[in-house]
Amino acid sequence: MKRLSKKIYMDNHATTPMDPRVLKAMMPYLKGKFGNAASGTHFFGREAAEAVERARGQTAKLINAEPREIVFTSGATESNNLALKGAAWANKDKGAHIVTVATEHKSVLDPCKRLSFEGFRVTYLPVKKDGMLDLSDLEKAISAKTILISVMLANNEIGTLQPIAEIGRIAREKGVLFHCDAAQAVGKIPVDTEALGVDLMSFNAHKIYGPKGVGALYVRKRGSQVRVLPLVDGGGHEVGLRSGTLNVPGIVGFGKACDICRREMKVESKRLEGLRNRLSQGILNGLSECVVNGGERNRLPNNLNVSFPGVRADDVIKGLGGIAVSSGSACLSTSPDSSYVLRAIGLSEDLAYSTIRFGLGRFNTQGEVDKVIRRVVSAIKRLRHTKVGHV
Ligand SMILES: *Cc1c(COP(=O)(O)O)cnc(C)c1O
Repeated sequence: MKRLSKKIYMDNHATTPMDPRVLKAMMPYLKGKFGNAASGTHFFGREAAEAVERARGQTAKLINAEPREIVFTSGATESNNLALKGAAWANKDKGAHIVTVATEHKSVLDPCKRLSFEGFRVTYLPVKKDGMLDLSDLEKAISAKTILISVMLANNEIGTLQPIAEIGRIAREKGVLFHCDAAQAVGKIPVDTEALGVDLMSFNAHKIYGPKGVGALYVRKRGSQVRVLPLVDGGGHEVGLRSGTLNVPGIVGFGKACDICRREMKVESKRLEGLRNRLSQGILNGLSECVVNGGERNRLPNNLNVSFPGVRADDVIKGLGGIAVSSGSACLSTSPDSSYVLRAIGLSEDLAYSTIRFGLGRFNTQGEVDKVIRRVVSAIKRLRHTKVGHV
């Protein structure tokens, strides 16, 4: 226990620890309440189905959607695949052009790449220094052949928030479907499917203190009819869009996680923003020549991404001892390539390798932030000093 408590987890963009209240809500569905939600003939099945529908309501409420607009999946990767491939296949007759952004998550970029092998044309919009796309670039990219726009709400590396409501207006005006990957934003900042004008939106449980392996795709049912084809065929679960026996405990946990975020988000994101600003100030005061990546405004309250010229992020992280932060993004940590997101905002290869991402979360304290500041500052001073010594 003692050793555990000394470790500091500050990589909440990769995943979040489960909230004990979520685990408590899930437990009965891992034990006695084991029914198949599709077994309508008996009590066990109906009990599971009721739990799923309660969770569907909690999930919908967090994003101002209707319960029937929620399709449960295995996570945001699957939701992104379903949205992109499903909408592209279903709307092929209208055209075969998709518009997305260079800094999207791999689970958007790779389905786009797959679709391009199938004959779809994909435009990847560039971003500015702060990570924002230029709305006039978007408008210019849309043609009569465009069937789908996909832009993320919050970037998982640099925390940039894209102008989703404006993009939603443009998409509607042009009659183009609009998908948004909101995995980093839901539960952290207000996300309202009506206000944003999205047709499809992906998010998941494990980034909001829920279990891994469960997520949702929001599919608009109000007003325009959004056509999407399934990736997984079978029993016709989730209105035919995602066959397979429902992950009842996971879905119950997801619902509970959404409910907690809806109630506590306002106070909690203020607290996180305060901690993030303290971390940022502490690091900038302690070290010369740091570069904060992403814009100052329009960013996630819990994100800090800093480049430390002259030192390698991996060396810094090795020197931190027991502090979990990330160099680049978790999804890429197996690849030796520098972050394509950092390159897209204009960082050199060298500077990209000198970059650390801090992701604050619900269980971080001010004491932890102060410890991280001290350790980061001294680790980098040490590395910079050694370097000078070598010259
Ligand atoms: C984490 C993440 C995903 C993938 O979510 P999984 O549920 O882990 O598949 C997709 N998009 C963004 C922006 C993410 O941060």
